[in-house]
Amino acid sequence: MTAMRIGIGSIFQESNQFAATQTDLALFRNSYVHEGDALLQLAGTDCEVAGILAVCAEEGAQAVPLLAARSVSGGALSDACYTELKETLLARLRAAMPLDGLILAMHGSMVAASQLDPEGDLLDAVRRIVGPDLPVVMTLDLHAHVTPRMVRQANALVSFTHYPHDDTYTTGERGASLLLRTVQGRVKPVMALAKVPIICGACNGQTFGDGPMAHLTRRARHLETQPGILSVSCFQVHPYNDLPGMGCGSIVVTDNDPALAANEAQALAAEFWERRQAFEVEHFTVAEAVTRGRQVEGGPVLLVDTADCAGGGAPGDSVALLGELLALGVDEPAFLMVVDPAAAQACARAGIGQTVSLQVGYSLDPAWGQPVPVSGTVRRLSDGSFLYDGGLFGGTWASMGISAVLQIGSIQLLVMSQPTYDWGDEQFRSLGMDVRQAKFIGVKNPMNYRRAYRDLMKAAFIVDTPGPTPAHVRNLNFKRMQRPFFPLDEEIPDLEIPVVVS
Ligand SMILES: [Zn+2]
Repeated sequence: MTAMRIGIGSIFQESNQFAATQTDLALFRNSYVHEGDALLQLAGTDCEVAGILAVCAEEGAQAVPLLAARSVSGGALSDACYTELKETLLARLRAAMPLDGLILAMHGSMVAASQLDPEGDLLDAVRRIVGPDLPVVMTLDLHAHVTPRMVRQANALVSFTHYPHDDTYTTGERGASLLLRTVQGRVKPVMALAKVPIICGACNGQTFGDGPMAHLTRRARHLETQPGILSVSCFQVHPYNDLPGMGCGSIVVTDNDPALAANEAQALAAEFWERRQAFEVEHFTVAEAVTRGRQVEGGPVLLVDTADCAGGGAPGDSVALLGELLALGVDEPAFLMVVDPAAAQACARAGIGQTVSLQVGYSLDPAWGQPVPVSGTVRRLSDGSFLYDGGLFGGTWASMGISAVLQIGSIQLLVMSQPTYDWGDEQFRSLGMDVRQAKFIGVKNPMNYRRAYRDLMKAAFIVDTPGPTPAHVRNLNFKRMQRPFFPLDEEIPDLEIPVVVS
């Protein structure tokens, strides 16, 4: 018996159409672009591809590596970037045929300048090569924008089930396992997609505890124990694109039972709608957060600057928090971070121990504020490379570029040359900043701090700052996404929940 040949590909980014920056190949290369056999070096990391490779090895299937590319979130991909990655994957797919199955690890909320549904577009192109009958499974982020085209062209879509995303590896395993069972003829997946028009920030989207996603996730895991149900995915759509048909909902994959898939997907989408108010978040002015933080004994107290989240596609160049803390005269130890390549270079030129005076901030996307003049002492310098502890980049290296720690009074400002995804405190730690020493820490992620700082933080306050990844989508100007949608529309009379079946 010859081994099953399983093609493996991945082009993964969460894009942000409200960011002024554009994503090019250099941003992908700053994380990874592995062609052909180079993809195999992801074995042993936390990435989906590593889980896929492990299942192929266990099941005696032959992994056929095509392309794996991952980038931090950012503005939409340039057409040149998307075309290069897509054509590379397709050329390797053509050369790899015949295959017995194909698995693609994608995000679901990627956007290119002229292609608003790259995952659907890629599946269309793949089908033209592999034909209608080859089993194709796609894994997705929990924040995917799933389109009817994706449902029609894939045999199964399987998403992360945890937020924070500490289950990327096991998502790869689940996707690969479902693909191999399909190839072997042991199951015949059909799926249904149902969505409701909810577009909310991610701050209350954790899948543990008592939030809306936690309830939906538990229901999904229970459903997967029921006969005939192969996989259940719940999506809280990434809110920082402006596309028609965005919303939250679910995909239910059954073993050749389309009615069961449709019924359960629709019921889950209905529960999303019932729980919609719980996605709304409480936030504070910086002054209010500092006042409340000072009433908390000890530290660290987190100031969650979610509007400038590199992991959501913002450039990370905001100094709104820095400016406010300086204006408030905060004299407790505080750790902040900013992407500003010119400022980082200036610190590097001056050298450790030297004093510099410079303008910092809003160097990549000036639409959101004014640079802040600062004087400080350069404490540390680095080339900016660091290893991720976990999450969807876990076990892989990334680079902030030339980076410095600038001491401005009691504030230590980490100045980086390029944005990187925030998982834990890797960026601070790589420059010797011990987060236990800080009273206040500015974190630029809506969610991952809940995991990274769970044993450390004394309190966390989401602050109301400007930027392209705000806690409240009311701050954004949607044009393509059709009304009505929550929270711009609190109630939608006679809401229908359409279902797309594969
Ligand atoms: Zn996500």
